[in-house]
Amino acid sequence: MRNPSSPAGNKPDLETLIAVSRQYGGNPDFVLAGGGNTSCKSGESMFVKASGTQLGTIGADGFSEIDLGKLNRIWSSSYSPDKDIREEQVLADLMASRVDPESRRPSVETLLHGLFPYTWVIHTHPAQINGITCSREGEKAARRVFGGEILWIPVIDPGYILALEVKKGADAYREKTGEFPRVVVLQNHGIFIAADTLDEVAEKYDGFMGRIAEIAGKKESPLLERSTALLGEWADTLGTAKPGLRVIPFTCGAMEPFLRDSSSFKPLSESPTPDHIVYSGYRALWAEDRKKLVSMALDFEEKEGFFPRIIAVRGEGFLACHDSESKADTAARLFLDHLKIVLTAEHFGGLQFMPKANVDFIRNWEVEKYRASQAK
Ligand SMILES: [Zn+2]
Repeated sequence: MRNPSSPAGNKPDLETLIAVSRQYGGNPDFVLAGGGNTSCKSGESMFVKASGTQLGTIGADGFSEIDLGKLNRIWSSSYSPDKDIREEQVLADLMASRVDPESRRPSVETLLHGLFPYTWVIHTHPAQINGITCSREGEKAARRVFGGEILWIPVIDPGYILALEVKKGADAYREKTGEFPRVVVLQNHGIFIAADTLDEVAEKYDGFMGRIAEIAGKKESPLLERSTALLGEWADTLGTAKPGLRVIPFTCGAMEPFLRDSSSFKPLSESPTPDHIVYSGYRALWAEDRKKLVSMALDFEEKEGFFPRIIAVRGEGFLACHDSESKADTAARLFLDHLKIVLTAEHFGGLQFMPKANVDFIRNWEVEKYRASQAK
């Protein structure tokens, strides 16, 4: 593997990495909440986003410096066949590859970043692109829209297993083309774009988003509106029944066709990607009768192990619920992102949820619990 060099010499260009991370991270068309991650390499050193930090407001302390030599030892190590033990062992090796042992825990996708023999890696979860990665046409649509030079990775558990799969796919790709892929498209997840210059990364993103807009049509981006009118009563009903719960009622014009009945709600009822599982809950609750709202929500909580973050109210809108205003607001923004994915996926055969086994892995995954606990 070639070691990329940066004009800054031995150390990767952290200043530019911060600036570009804020640029992508500050744009909700690319990432929301703690989603996405970025890295920059030079020689044996790589700066990568720390777990649980937000790209949009990231500073120098939001990155961990990784010794690539140590990181790459993971590839020749063997780990337990037991999922939970394996994840712990890989995490320990990942932590040990930090240059400064006091620095923060590196992103769960650090191993994957380390694979690319290119200076810059910008990994995001754009709703537009996920309209393809979460579509029934999936790989076929991705190749048609993004061109032949992509590595497509079918839906898979994140972390070590994902990185292993990308490594395998990239080796085969290189065998065929002589080059390590620059674009890796992850089903039900997002996209990695890597290059030696940020212009090349931006050009690819612009090209892909532009092509999707051509096919799906340039519609007004759907917006959320806080609604205190009719939904306010629903929010009050829940709020009184569950002290400490913050409930924000929303309406959304573009969501109306999905709120007619429980079957029209289907595409919004389960998560398309890990971000949606983490921030807006892997499943939403459908509600028609305010008198039954509290008992339905409590039943949901007992069965699923979490209070519903999104409650869709027939014909009206939805309630975003969490234990703080900002978390409820984040849940709502992820739910809006979900809607955008559905609207794009309609042009590619319709939405395909994450399979249950992958949903369960993320729900039980210690890393995602850590990420959610770090989210403000
Ligand atoms: Zn990701």
